[in-house]
Amino acid sequence: MNAITVVLPVMGVTAAIAVLTQKCRFSMDWIERMYYLENKLTPMSKLISLDDYAESVKEWASDKGILLPQNSKKQMLKVMEEVGEVAGALSKKLPTQEVQSEIGDCFVTLIILSHQLGLEPSECLRSAYDKIKNRKGRVENGVFIKENDQK
Ligand SMILES: [Mg+2]
Repeated sequence: MNAITVVLPVMGVTAAIAVLTQKCRFSMDWIERMYYLENKLTPMSKLISLDDYAESVKEWASDKGILLPQNSKKQMLKVMEEVGEVAGALSKKLPTQEVQSEIGDCFVTLIILSHQLGLEPSECLRSAYDKIKNRKGRVENGVFIKENDQK
């Protein structure tokens, strides 16, 4: 057995894996693109992380001069206004993109409120997740009811 008889099959297998991987990646990209086009959403591959967006929102709010603790009560009104707009979009059965935008507005107002109160949005989310992650209960008529709240 010489080096050629070992190296050539390994190269062949490596090349085949590379081609198959590329084909799978291509088809996943295509499926993802079609899904997001069909639902008029931004493809996942174009999304940046929630933390990155939160940082951009913080910078925007800082530039506008609204990240002051004394603005937090008025900011809370903005939060409620945006939550109401989500409800409005759903009740009017507006297109998915508009619902998406209204939910995004809620994130923006909550991120700003968090910073006005000296809190990190990701920490707020982490503590909320820590509360629910082991929560037990049941879904009744489409609503999750905590074990302790059940009659
Ligand atoms: Mg809005």
